[in-house]
Amino acid sequence: MGCGASAPPPTVATVDSVAVIGGGIAGVTAAYYLAKKGLKVTIFEKESGVGQMTSYGPAGVTMWKNVKKAFDFDGTVSLADGGVEGSARLAEGSAWMIFGNDPERGDMMLQARLTFEKFLGLNPDAKVSCDDGGLLYMLDEKYYAKNLELFKDDPTFVFYSKAEFEKSDIYDKIFDGAEYYGIIHSKEECYVDPARMTKFIAKAVVSMGGDLSVSSEVTSITERGGCVSLRLKDNAAEVEFGACVVALGAFPGPLLKASGLEDGVDEIYGLKGYSITGRMPEGCLRRGVVDCMDVKFFRPYVDAKGNFCVRAGGCADAYDDEDPLRVVDSRMGEFKKNQLANKLFEHGVINEGAKDTKHDLIIEENKIEVWTGIRPVNKNGRVPLVRWAKGSAIDRAGLSDSERIAVVSGFGSNGFVMCWHAGPQLAEMFEKAPVKLMPDAEVLARSAMTWEEYYAKHPKGSKQTVT
Ligand SMILES: Cc1cc2nc3c(=O)[nH]c(=O)nc-3n(C[C@H](O)[C@H](O)[C@H](O)COP(=O)(O)OP(=O)(O)OC[C@H]3O[C@@H](n4cnc5c(N)ncnc54)[C@H](O)[C@@H]3O)c2cc1C
Repeated sequence: MGCGASAPPPTVATVDSVAVIGGGIAGVTAAYYLAKKGLKVTIFEKESGVGQMTSYGPAGVTMWKNVKKAFDFDGTVSLADGGVEGSARLAEGSAWMIFGNDPERGDMMLQARLTFEKFLGLNPDAKVSCDDGGLLYMLDEKYYAKNLELFKDDPTFVFYSKAEFEKSDIYDKIFDGAEYYGIIHSKEECYVDPARMTKFIAKAVVSMGGDLSVSSEVTSITERGGCVSLRLKDNAAEVEFGACVVALGAFPGPLLKASGLEDGVDEIYGLKGYSITGRMPEGCLRRGVVDCMDVKFFRPYVDAKGNFCVRAGGCADAYDDEDPLRVVDSRMGEFKKNQLANKLFEHGVINEGAKDTKHDLIIEENKIEVWTGIRPVNKNGRVPLVRWAKGSAIDRAGLSDSERIAVVSGFGSNGFVMCWHAGPQLAEMFEKAPVKLMPDAEVLARSAMTWEEYYAKHPKGSKQTVT
């Protein structure tokens, strides 16, 4: 038995239970990989559900297609295409880059992808259940030519001149009258609903014996007697765990400070992004689009009531320390200037009452919701994915079992990709720490559950249902 309100402090440094504070994509994937080690995991999320902060409104476009296959339909997966031979690659737009020139990042991306495919490999017999169209990149002449040069032999990229695209069967009327030179159709990349993906992984954690505690804001972390105890807002009682992971996206600072701890990273601020959400006539946009002419993304989705909606985002803004999530209304003008977003505005007016979304994926008729989120970055545009917190009480006393409080956060704009790198890395970090992991046999057994067993307990949703 490890830590618990009534359990005596253990005589050897052990970890059998871990609190994950923050239910964004970084937190839920960390929880998933810790549960795979047989640890009892509890996710504490201050909002009413997971995936409602930074992991709610992003593009979800820089995803591999098999991510969509896994999550858009709540878990059906195909390994038939995608494979494991992902290679680092680069496609360029005016300010947009994936799998950059940076070899370290490229390697991490590749590792993340391999790990994700391993995750999918738990479900080798799943049937293909979605027919999606990949992702379109609208390009001007320069970037069209550059990408053509890079990818002309790559069967997963299809190039269309504007005239060819307009005649193709993947043309949608949202492109009517738009300015661009040509389109790259990336068959392998995809969009996915990030909030739904986060929920799916959280459900997988619960099915492995983990707990999800929503509407639970953690206000401080204290190390005591080989345990980590958490205090929750509006709750006098403390809850104890063997270790904890702080997964608060761009904002780990206040909680760490309130706990007398420091982040292992000197500075973490962010780039502010906006997304606007509105209803679109059905069929107006079937694919995710990146408009590389002014760096906006467009992601269609179906809301919980079955309405056909689209989310447009982009507009990285300076991080405002005082009020990072404030919506700057003048930014809406920038959206309106965008040729595709403009069409969204034609279908509605900004919903004054919903400047920040209600997070329920349902929007009102003829209304546009506005959301802001922060991409956690440091001045180099990244944040190390996982690190130990510094300055814990035990650390100051020079004892090595201080390595019980870790921090994890997204990786700039690729949190939904890099989480597949961060989760396993974090679990490994705990394994290498001086504290001994004490797997729970029951959790270990559940973590080996097949997807068939999983779905027997958690029936699959359909495209029309956001659970
Ligand atoms: C406009 C925009 C577009 C983006 N596009 C993409 C994209 O296309 N592809 C991609 O991969 N990434 C994209 N990203 C980046 C991605 O969204 C982030 O990297 C990722 O969501 C970060 O996840 P996180 O779990 O670290 O943070 P978050 O999702 O912010 O999670 C932190 C969680 O902690 C909770 N919390 C906070 N304080 C407490 C507390 N005291 N107690 C308990 N819980 C607490 C919050 O409620 C929240 O749920 C984009 C980001 C933005 C802003």
